[in-house]
Amino acid sequence: MPHKVTLIKGDGIGPEIAKIAQKVIDATGVKISWDEAEAGIDIMEKEGTPLPEKTLESCRKNKVALKAPVTTPVGTGFRSVNVALRQQLGLYACVRPCKSYEGVRSRYNNIDLVLVRENTEDLYAGIEFEKGKPETQKLINTIKELGGKKIKDDSGISIKPISVSGTEKIVEYAFQYAVANKRKKVSAIHKANIMKFTDGLFLSTARAVAKKYPQVEFNDVIVDNMTMQLVQKPELYDVLVLPNLYGDILSDLCAGLVGGLGVAPGANIGENGMAVFEATHGSAPKYKGLNKVNPTALILSGMLMLKHLGENKAAEALENAVKRVIRSGKDVTYDMKPDRNDPSAVGSKEMGEAIIKELAKS
Ligand code: NAD
Repeated sequence: MPHKVTLIKGDGIGPEIAKIAQKVIDATGVKISWDEAEAGIDIMEKEGTPLPEKTLESCRKNKVALKAPVTTPVGTGFRSVNVALRQQLGLYACVRPCKSYEGVRSRYNNIDLVLVRENTEDLYAGIEFEKGKPETQKLINTIKELGGKKIKDDSGISIKPISVSGTEKIVEYAFQYAVANKRKKVSAIHKANIMKFTDGLFLSTARAVAKKYPQVEFNDVIVDNMTMQLVQKPELYDVLVLPNLYGDILSDLCAGLVGGLGVAPGANIGENGMAVFEATHGSAPKYKGLNKVNPTALILSGMLMLKHLGENKAAEALENAVKRVIRSGKDVTYDMKPDRNDPSAVGSKEMGEAIIKELAKS
């Protein structure tokens, strides 16, 4: 029986890299029945919503999806499709492995970090009050009445909820991931010294969960210190567990440590096997249709998907094929060349084909 997988093609560079990743994954020999679905600004024009119900239905039915990036226009219309998808499907954990591959241009060659980002709470929960709206004024007045500080009347407000239950779930996931993947240490990242009732709660809850896993080392680091530590001595860290916003920011930092967004894959994990795999990068609209961007991050997200489907051998073969193409440095996109204007850089499709050729050798 083939595995049933929803393929969300996204917008911007999404559709082109989705097609390449699909072809490469099929070339592993794993039988997949792809259910193609739409999300993003292109479908918004046709259907009036960037996240059609039938896309959500397909994900719920198949439980596993590979998703290309989707644009979130700033300050207009709809909120983020990515945030909506995570909330609608209960994808509470975002797992982003950041690993050095030989041949990738980077200041470091020894990175092997995994970020586990909480996906549903924090400033990302989407609870916002616009400047000048009556409900915003009401909130400002209520906060003042409750003994809080005076907030300026011309403020916009975003709410930061962090719960014990949400934190327990993500920290449990981080420890279970560490145990299953033979990782030695989990670090909880926070700003508990300043945000005592949100990050403070995250930290005390993380400490309580950590007690259940004495075989895994645990420590905590304040987020600003963590950014410096990651730049100076990333080798000291292993699995990082973070609230949503710090997770978002540090994911890009860690992608930078291993050579950029072109090689940073990710997985969004929910209950009962529900999972959506996607690259860390966005829809890079300026490169749309140019056959230029690096398809590796989405292909490696496909590799994580194969592992999730229990196709470990195929996943390993795919990762090795990607490694060989990157190591050779020949059939790679512009971002992996020493000079970004290197005329020998190949297009996205050609890099995908090189990976397929390598797969055929394994
Ligand atoms: P981006 O990741 O799309 O692009 C930033 C820059 O990174 C690009 O200009 C390009 O130089 C480089 N880059 C990104 N992907 C690359 C690749 N595969 N190969 C080579 N270089 C690559 O980030 P952005 O410009 O901040 O966001 C564009 C849109 O994507 C926004 O609307 C944003 O909200 C959205 N976004 C979506 C997702 C998602 O769908 N999961 C994630 C992040 C951002």
